[in-house]
Amino acid sequence: MTLTAPARTEAADAVLAAVPDGLLIGGSWTPGGGSGRIEVTDPATGDVLAAIADATPADALAALEAADSAAASWAATAPRARSEILRRAFELVTEHRDELALLITLEMGKPLAESRGEVAYGAEFLRWFAEEAVRIRGTAGSNPEGTGQVLVSHDPVGPCYLITPWNFPLAMATRKIAPALAAGCTVVIKPSELTPLTTLRFAALLQEAGVPAGVVNVVTTTDAAGITAALLADPRLKKLSFTGSTAVGRRLIAQAAQHVLRVSMELGGNAPFLVLDDADLDAAVAGAMLAKFRNIGQACTAANRFLVHESLVEGFTGRLTERIRALRLGPGTEEGVGIGPLINDAAVTKALALVDDAVARGATLVTGGRRGEGLFLEPTVLTGVRPGSAILREEIFGPVVAIVPVHDEDEAVRLANDTEYGLVAYAYTRDLARAHRLIRRLQTGMVGINTGVVSNAAAPFGGVKESGFGREGGAEGILEYLTTKYSLIPDSTAPALPASK
Ligand code: NAD
Repeated sequence: MTLTAPARTEAADAVLAAVPDGLLIGGSWTPGGGSGRIEVTDPATGDVLAAIADATPADALAALEAADSAAASWAATAPRARSEILRRAFELVTEHRDELALLITLEMGKPLAESRGEVAYGAEFLRWFAEEAVRIRGTAGSNPEGTGQVLVSHDPVGPCYLITPWNFPLAMATRKIAPALAAGCTVVIKPSELTPLTTLRFAALLQEAGVPAGVVNVVTTTDAAGITAALLADPRLKKLSFTGSTAVGRRLIAQAAQHVLRVSMELGGNAPFLVLDDADLDAAVAGAMLAKFRNIGQACTAANRFLVHESLVEGFTGRLTERIRALRLGPGTEEGVGIGPLINDAAVTKALALVDDAVARGATLVTGGRRGEGLFLEPTVLTGVRPGSAILREEIFGPVVAIVPVHDEDEAVRLANDTEYGLVAYAYTRDLARAHRLIRRLQTGMVGINTGVVSNAAAPFGGVKESGFGREGGAEGILEYLTTKYSLIPDSTAPALPASK
């Protein structure tokens, strides 16, 4: 990128100065064995923000060694003590909210107000799982044969490898680390090489909160495939939790089969946004702005396909376009900016190619469709998008609205489900019975009825179909890091088993 970077503010310099530039292994920050450094850049300006350690596979194995060595004592730490450390981490993240928000905006590009929202959302996982750590329940049931009691209990799964994407640098880390620690597991986390700084700063806050050495280890690397292959081949690793694209997830599932490793997969999405004939149009437009433009359209939960009843297409398109034209494009660090840059050049090129393909197949370009300076893309609205357009099949991951007119509920549901993805669906209707029917008919892990945002630490987040399996948050989130153990305790009064058995 050839933009001239504006001078960095003192606040930005101070925030960057607090970020460790090494790997966290066994409680110490180390440069690792890699010869190079990872240069992290600001997508709004191209400015190099920091140069950090670039881990090798040997560093990753040292991190796993540290996680394995700490596993028994962390599993034996009283749940109340684990809970209090997580609670302290919640408080520290909350105290440092402005610093973390600025760091997120600097390395990822989203507007500051949204970064503050991510810090609040990310911190909530620490508070939620601090509460869940002391509520790991089992069951006791009678054996139908009358020979004793069936006890079901849970153990921590063991050392976990956590891989996170670049689009929510704090929340994707807390959403995995908090339940793992609550369950009594130790971890090695590998953030995206595009946005590793927030995870590094967060890890330093975890140390301050009292997380013991070796319980959380951080490796930053440009060799994601190399260090992942080394870790997945090591039998000391007991679990992989991945958030990222379906293409990479598919490869990791195959690699994890080698040791029959437990895996959780939070993968890509292609969310439909249904506006049915009885929808409240103002509410639908407000929800669409959130579902589409949060994170500059770069969210797995971003609405990808707007399936709008034909009677409402004109009103919906007009009102949405008006709101979109009022959004200010610019660096996320400037207050009042509504749309920041995309993460890299490939993202801009891909979004524009999807727009061009849709137009070539007959869609109407209502607004946008042009690249701005650097990595900025004008928010775009397409209407009358035709079947067969690539934009209906692929994740856009950018600020582009694709509107498809539909005749009725059946057609909307059929088109909504016509994708290999199944993360989330949004639907606008004022009819309660219809809402329940839609919840049943939509093939996704999550459904938002008359809302454009479903993310909530207290709810199980996750997908079906090729959007993955496993859940993060809610009562279910901790189960991903626990194994279920059944024990039979024969009753002394039970009849003796026949000798032949
Ligand atoms: P990505 O798959 O390119 O990368 C995700 C992570 O995997 C990064 O840390 C990356 O370094 C690592 N990685 C890449 N190749 C690897 C390999 N061969 N072996 C091991 N690790 C590898 O995805 P991304 O571009 O960072 O993130 C965007 C994607 O993430 C989108 O598809 C989005 O939908 C998805 N996502 C899903 C959720 C969810 O909860 N379902 C949340 C956020 C993002």
